[in-house]
Amino acid sequence: MLKNGGKRPLVVTGKNVQRAEPLLQLLRLNHIEYSTFSISCEPKIQTIRDGVALAKSENCDWVIGIGGGSVIDAGKAIAAIMTNEGDVLDYVEIIGKGKALTKPSARFLAIPTTAGTGSEVTRNAVLASPEHKLKVSLRSAYMLPAIALVDPELTYDLPRNVTASTGLDALTQVIEPYLCSRANPMTDAICIEGIKRIGRSFRRAFGNGYDVEARADMAVAGLFGGMALANAGLGAVHGFAGPIGGMFSAPHGEICAALLADVMDANLRALRERDSESPVIPRFYHVARLLTGDQINAAEGIQRIRDVVADFKIPRLSSHGIKSDDIPEIVRHAKNASSMKANPIVLTDEELTEILQRAL
Ligand SMILES: [Zn+2]
Repeated sequence: MLKNGGKRPLVVTGKNVQRAEPLLQLLRLNHIEYSTFSISCEPKIQTIRDGVALAKSENCDWVIGIGGGSVIDAGKAIAAIMTNEGDVLDYVEIIGKGKALTKPSARFLAIPTTAGTGSEVTRNAVLASPEHKLKVSLRSAYMLPAIALVDPELTYDLPRNVTASTGLDALTQVIEPYLCSRANPMTDAICIEGIKRIGRSFRRAFGNGYDVEARADMAVAGLFGGMALANAGLGAVHGFAGPIGGMFSAPHGEICAALLADVMDANLRALRERDSESPVIPRFYHVARLLTGDQINAAEGIQRIRDVVADFKIPRLSSHGIKSDDIPEIVRHAKNASSMKANPIVLTDEELTEILQRAL
């Protein structure tokens, strides 16, 4: 796999390059010369420019990303712009020209070290533009990684707070596609399996990072979330998470975790009020039962999610600096977010506002 990748890989890593050392050792053992590019936070437009410039100056012809979702997204975007003419802004939505990529990305091997984002099997990379205070996506079918190497062992020594926030992103990404307006039988099957695995293993993985079975369940669920969101869609949690992530520096998983229960609650109420025959309503019961294994109702299921978020000490939105005054702007952006379009019902401004107020 490493020998067939190309001549010289650019290895994209997180802040601590040491964590990639086993991979780098393997490259050296195979006499493969490489360059490394370390990123310290969620990737920005400029991060991609810097990575592409480094890849070109070091004559790299393929890319390996080893790290969390930010690293995988950065690697994916660098691999795409390495082979396509021009600047990354030419190809991003909203703040750029939104042109389509015309050439396949450089070969990209994704090795996630967290169990959550599923970025190793999606076709977009989320990039921040601090000057626009926005997060935007670079998207193309060409961006699907050539290989996703998902090995739960890489997650054993994750810090507890990262296990919690990335796992809650994984949970959101198997729940939202199951409840969304674009759910289909294939993504349903993936989501049902993912919700079950998280239900039985999340607290175990949080309690003991070296619980082999629990880590395997979480790794599979993270992967399934990526497959589900890429083939169905998401909903209001991710509709909010994009704009909030652009305006405030808060980890994506923590934002999703802080919003998940309140969004489910608002969606369920709105569906019962305005679309009481909706086939999505019984799905809230399925989620509750799949997640807990108990014969509980939808409201009790949502409460169990609140309990997990509280027990894992996920900070509230206000601890990231978000205030009531920011809510109108977040709502304005969230309404137009692509994830919001798959929400099972169109939420009113009042409902969107109320969700944020509750999650502050
Ligand atoms: Zn997510």
